[in-house]
Amino acid sequence: RLATENRRKVAVPPGHTAKSLEEALLDLANILGQEWVKLNDVPLIDGDYHAVPLSHDSYHILDPGDFVASAVCWPANTEEVSKTVVWANKWKVPIWPLSIGRNLGYGGSAPRVRGSVVLDLGRRMNKVLNVDVENAVCLIEPGVQYVTLYEYLQSIGVGNDLWIDVPDLPGGSVMGNALDRGVGYTPYGDHWAHHIGMEVVTPTGEIIRTGMGSMEGSECWQLFRYGFGPHQDGIFTQSNFGIVTKMGMELLPNPGGVRVFMAAFPKYADLHEAIEVIRPLMIRKVIGNVPMVRLGLQDASLYKTRDDFELDERGVVKPESAQKVIEELNTGAWVFYAALYGPDEVTLAKYQYIQEQFHRRIPNTKFYQREDVPENHYLHNYARFTTGIPTWRELDRMKWIPNAAHLFFAPLSANNGKDAGRQANMFRARMEEYGFNYLGTFFIGTRAMHHVISFMYNRKDVAEKKKALACIRALIADAASIGVGEYRTHLALQDQVAKTYNWNNGAIMKFNEQLKDALDPNGILQPGRSGIWPKDYRGKGFEL
Ligand code: FAD
Repeated sequence: RLATENRRKVAVPPGHTAKSLEEALLDLANILGQEWVKLNDVPLIDGDYHAVPLSHDSYHILDPGDFVASAVCWPANTEEVSKTVVWANKWKVPIWPLSIGRNLGYGGSAPRVRGSVVLDLGRRMNKVLNVDVENAVCLIEPGVQYVTLYEYLQSIGVGNDLWIDVPDLPGGSVMGNALDRGVGYTPYGDHWAHHIGMEVVTPTGEIIRTGMGSMEGSECWQLFRYGFGPHQDGIFTQSNFGIVTKMGMELLPNPGGVRVFMAAFPKYADLHEAIEVIRPLMIRKVIGNVPMVRLGLQDASLYKTRDDFELDERGVVKPESAQKVIEELNTGAWVFYAALYGPDEVTLAKYQYIQEQFHRRIPNTKFYQREDVPENHYLHNYARFTTGIPTWRELDRMKWIPNAAHLFFAPLSANNGKDAGRQANMFRARMEEYGFNYLGTFFIGTRAMHHVISFMYNRKDVAEKKKALACIRALIADAASIGVGEYRTHLALQDQVAKTYNWNNGAIMKFNEQLKDALDPNGILQPGRSGIWPKDYRGKGFEL
């Protein structure tokens, strides 16, 4: 028997009884070893960022028991992942791979279908397999976190020469984040764009390598991403078409210097002009990183809690109260953070040019470099992010309200003032109607921006959770009504978002379903991820 403390009733996957599940899990324990399969019968304790549970989504937006696994297992290597997939096909048990499981705001470590078996790859497959210093690339396993990759590069003496791109918090997996197409802050901030070569276990258990890795003896697996014929890599992101067991990542060679700065724009209406100034700077690569424009109040939430503000009857911070804090912090209605790379003389010339461009269109823009701000200022953390040094500063934001959980509403915006302005106004009005503050940040790419709006709610307050869910559903519908789609979303919302990608009668979902049915005939791998359901699940009430 599998060890159990019978603390909570185990969720049973569709098509199974408690007995057949037990039989299946005993078979899995024979394959992986008894100690590497564990029933998920532990109490659902939310923990915190440093102790994210594998039992459920600790930032639950539904009932914590809705998205729970029946068991967790820990394969040791690619072959064991493959054996686990073959096992899942034999017993028709849905499985859900994780690299680390810190997908907080998007579903955490939870599976979409209750009773799935979670494969926690990160626990035993967590090695940096290779660092090619000359070519600035590495090959990693799923469990390599940003912080561990950073420490590893330091430990082998190349940390000063080769930088990584860290997102806000470094406890996540380099691979898991890239597979969810997450973003960071350096010139390599589009994480997926900087992966190079993968090893994947398909839903029937075959092991493939992509790009040059598909050729026996090639030395270019981490050097040339395409290989010959169709380029498959993209279908393994935000999908349920394979389990990635190895991946190459490009590392950023030390560019010889970094100058970070913050620009503060005095008025809310300045957003339009600010983005208009930024676009040519991005397209012409005057600014080479992924800079951001964030609402002054969002910036202030790093230093303040909601109790520091006066709220209106809906619970929304009053504009005059926000303004008072913004003045106290000496920032603006919107703030812009960017990094310039290269030797000092080069970045100084660019900095002066950028200042001129802003001052022409927003004369009252205030500029700050590190020497202009106090020690606790976020700009110092930003300087660390943009040089690939992990920081935990973003956790300060979790003090905004008690029992804070995040839900991210993350639409894509064109890189222009018109789209940014209409989105900010539309989403702000809708969020305030529901009693939430619009806390928006635009992460700026060359031609498009991730407009990430962090939705904070008290996860112990059931009524507030319901309100947050209703609000984000309304936001998704609002966005779709003007042709705006999300780049990524929480598990509970993936069906809704997938349906908004509806050109030509939802042709893209039909194509995804054809792929799903061909690659995963038994529908065992992550049913429902990104709204893609295997044939046996379709139309049976699983969609939310
Ligand atoms: P996992 O949870 O391990 O995986 C992510 C997804 O990919 C899951 O759906 C999983 O099923 C799938 N997956 C993972 N590994 C595999 C595999 N090997 N094969 C197939 N599928 C796999 N995100 C950003 O991108 N940028 C940010 O700056 C950022 N800031 C954040 C700040 C805060 C305060 C919070 C709460 C969250 C933030 N996030 C951010 C979101 C999230 O925490 C990170 O993206 C995190 O890196 C994702 O978790 P993970 O890396 O542990 O991935």
